[in-house]
Amino acid sequence: SVRVRFAPSPTGSLHIGGARTALFNWLFARKENGKFILRVEDTDTQRYIAEAAAGIERTLRWLGLDWDEGPVAGGPKGPYRQSERLELYRQEAKRLLDAGLAYPCYCTPDELAQMREEARQSGRAPRYDGRCRHLDEAARKAKEAAGLKPVLRIKAPAEGSTVVRDLIRGEVTFDNSTLDDFIIMKSNGIATYNFACVVDDHGMGITHVLRAEEHLSNTPKQLVIYNALGYPPPQFAHVPMILAPDRSKLSKRHGATAVEEFREQGYLAPAIVNYLALLGWSPGADKEIMSREEMVSLFSLEAINKSAAIYDVRKLTWLNAQYINNLPLDTVVREALPFLQAGALIPPAPSPEEMDYITRVVAAVRSRVHTLVELADAASYFFRDDFTYEEKGVRKHFSKPGVTETLARGRQALAAVQPFDLEQTEAAYRQVTEALGVSGGALIHPTRLAISGRTVGPGLFDIIVLLGRENCLTRLDRAIR
Ligand code: GLU
Repeated sequence: SVRVRFAPSPTGSLHIGGARTALFNWLFARKENGKFILRVEDTDTQRYIAEAAAGIERTLRWLGLDWDEGPVAGGPKGPYRQSERLELYRQEAKRLLDAGLAYPCYCTPDELAQMREEARQSGRAPRYDGRCRHLDEAARKAKEAAGLKPVLRIKAPAEGSTVVRDLIRGEVTFDNSTLDDFIIMKSNGIATYNFACVVDDHGMGITHVLRAEEHLSNTPKQLVIYNALGYPPPQFAHVPMILAPDRSKLSKRHGATAVEEFREQGYLAPAIVNYLALLGWSPGADKEIMSREEMVSLFSLEAINKSAAIYDVRKLTWLNAQYINNLPLDTVVREALPFLQAGALIPPAPSPEEMDYITRVVAAVRSRVHTLVELADAASYFFRDDFTYEEKGVRKHFSKPGVTETLARGRQALAAVQPFDLEQTEAAYRQVTEALGVSGGALIHPTRLAISGRTVGPGLFDIIVLLGRENCLTRLDRAIR
């Protein structure tokens, strides 16, 4: 049965691209009733950031991409951290060495630099020339005696070609002359990415390697390793690149790309997951908004595009607004709480009555916002009185002649109206404007500004009823004075 893995190098936070790779693996595993495995590729000790692995796991969990086997969860094919598998790589490397399929190389950085320089001058691609392949025992001993620590290189085929059968891209042929005897073990005894990856994908019983297109050039090398070790290779599927709207490589200057940043900006996990699913996958029939169950049932590797996906934050933001507006209200409230708390708009542990009020406020504002940060902003005046008036509104509505008198009449009406509900407050306001012979807007606009500080927002009478009589009167007094 299907076994796939997501294998992040913990060098930083999880970005859009990595999250998309994780999602496609997860979708494929769930669709095929297979296993989704998390493997932490932390052998590159210098770049290893202890916090990063935990951060990536936290983000995956937040996205709802649960894994069946992994570092903490464990599983039958563990350990799942490469730093805990070093001995295994050494054993397998020794096997290749003993079989004469790999050899120690003592070339110094200077020698390698010279090799590169010569290749450059003669217009060839730099490649290792294999000079340590044929060192005899005596020469080796001499190098060792001189204190040189070797790397281990694999004997790569120099002629012919290596064909990668990719489930998305079809057959991709690599000329073996582009391969050299590449390093599988570094001089510090640590396996390189390609070697550890193959030992692990085999050892963990991975059936399908789904990863970013940027790794396609590693695949012929990995096939050389599979071949040397006598492992049957898995199937490969390289998912298309994600480019910025201008088709350049996605980078910092295109704004947030770390999933955590989006979380902080008030994007919802299901909206992000939905957006990621559309990056390179076409579920067909112009389908855009999909539940997780729908994604799982529709997913297939055949429907993944070959061409690059264009990352468009506006599309993500649009989707987020759809989710904020359409998810069950309780869910949106729960997600909004930390954002309301961050602005000190609500207490750390709201009472049931407070929760009821918060829920009504969220219901009133959610259709007008794209993120939870926007939601907290749009909701702020429901929780505090110390707002300022929008300047544009002051100019437009507070400077009209007679506005103080109009507002005072509105205040009078709200002070008396019974019951204080939508229908009656609206009727009371209509009576005032009719009696004064002014347009509805002449009272409605300055009232909105007085009680919310804003020129736009939910329906005025929704705000009035939500705030309640006392609050409205106090706020109108402040504007009339
Ligand atoms: N650690 C590699 C990366 O983060 C994994 C590549 C692979 O999936 O083989 O890019």
